[in-house]
Amino acid sequence: MNFTLSPEELLIQKMAREYAEKYIEPVAEKIDTENRVPEDIITGLAELELFGLPFKEEYGGAGAGYPSYVLALEQLGRVSSGPVMLISVNCLALGAIDKFGTEDIKHKYMPKACKGMELASFAFTEPGTGSDPKQITTTAVKEGEHYILNGTKRFISNAGYPGPMVVFAIDSESNKPTAFIVDKLCPGYSLSEPWHKLGYHGGTLLDVYLKDVAVPAENILNGIGGGFPVLTFGIAFGKVGVSALHLGLTLAAYEEAVQYAKEKTHRGQPIAKFQATQLRIADLAIKYETARWLAYRLGCLANDAKNPALFAKEAALTKTFVCDNSVDAARVAIDVHGSYGLMNDYRVSRIYKDAIMGPQVEGVADMQKMIVAGVVLNG
Ligand SMILES: Cc1cc2nc3c(=O)[nH]c(=O)nc-3n(C[C@H](O)[C@H](O)[C@H](O)COP(=O)(O)OP(=O)(O)OC[C@H]3O[C@@H](n4cnc5c(N)ncnc54)[C@H](O)[C@@H]3O)c2cc1C
Repeated sequence: MNFTLSPEELLIQKMAREYAEKYIEPVAEKIDTENRVPEDIITGLAELELFGLPFKEEYGGAGAGYPSYVLALEQLGRVSSGPVMLISVNCLALGAIDKFGTEDIKHKYMPKACKGMELASFAFTEPGTGSDPKQITTTAVKEGEHYILNGTKRFISNAGYPGPMVVFAIDSESNKPTAFIVDKLCPGYSLSEPWHKLGYHGGTLLDVYLKDVAVPAENILNGIGGGFPVLTFGIAFGKVGVSALHLGLTLAAYEEAVQYAKEKTHRGQPIAKFQATQLRIADLAIKYETARWLAYRLGCLANDAKNPALFAKEAALTKTFVCDNSVDAARVAIDVHGSYGLMNDYRVSRIYKDAIMGPQVEGVADMQKMIVAGVVLNG
């Protein structure tokens, strides 16, 4: 067992932190108010190879693996959630393509998205369901060498950017969920206005309307009716990114509270002199360290995820703990700030709004616990 980061991991961590502080922090408020990540930030992240960090160089990735991915996303998430959502969802969808795609499919769809020239999406949720694949209503009907897709997908990240989208539909042959790669913005693909959500601004959510979208048969991942493993494995990789983001939010809450406790004075002395403040700072230190090692561990497990069910369990329990923990950390940091913590001028209020998003994304908290219990009880 070795808890020491390698020189390469330390370098990637430092690079992400420096980029976040120098380029993202100055525009973090703007990202939040405009709900848009500026083009030059996307270009900058792409130049650092952060859109394809975990993937092999032959598919356009940086070949740095998931432990480095977690370290980098933590540092970006410490400053702003929007850019992390773009990367995390991109890597979620690419993770599914990497695991289940043929060589031709991987070479076709991964390089541009790994380089940030395109952004990949993963579309499961529909107006009627976000947790239950059996309730999917999007259909796929075979016509010659193509499948014709019809349906609506809800709350889809990165949907407005060009690139591949892994779409789940019930196909007419197997009557089961099947995973198709759709080229976004193709004929028959249209979008809603962005949803106005509480946090994660910059990572826009759109509904996607598929009307007679023709997808070539070679764009099926894991065969007809084989969508369920693609879904569970893909979302498990998504939880690596979300866990890293919420670790970054926990770190930010911790740092903001420490700084405020030293700066805010009562009767000429910092509020850090009060034992109540000290206990909150200690709570935050505990929350950060416990989340950190669980999230780093998930990065290591993701690098070598052979058993989908076991990996899904580890991802589910990590994501649940780290996300819930980040909400608690943000709440404690607000308590340290008193009413100032509720004001938009103070960073902790944005941390709270971002943190509260985590327990619902990549599968609600209750579903995570069912995944964990399913593996624990049934093997
Ligand atoms: C910021 C953000 C980004 C997102 N990005 C994407 C994306 O890129 N692609 C995508 O497909 N989706 C995306 N989503 C959607 C998200 O994954 C779903 O909203 C989420 O999985 C929950 O689905 P739901 O909202 O329909 O809740 P539901 O499935 O309706 O669940 C609501 C509640 O019902 C209970 N429940 C439901 N089913 C069960 C069950 N079987 N057992 C026990 N309890 C149950 C749970 O308590 C749950 O809390 C995103 C959402 C957000 C907020």
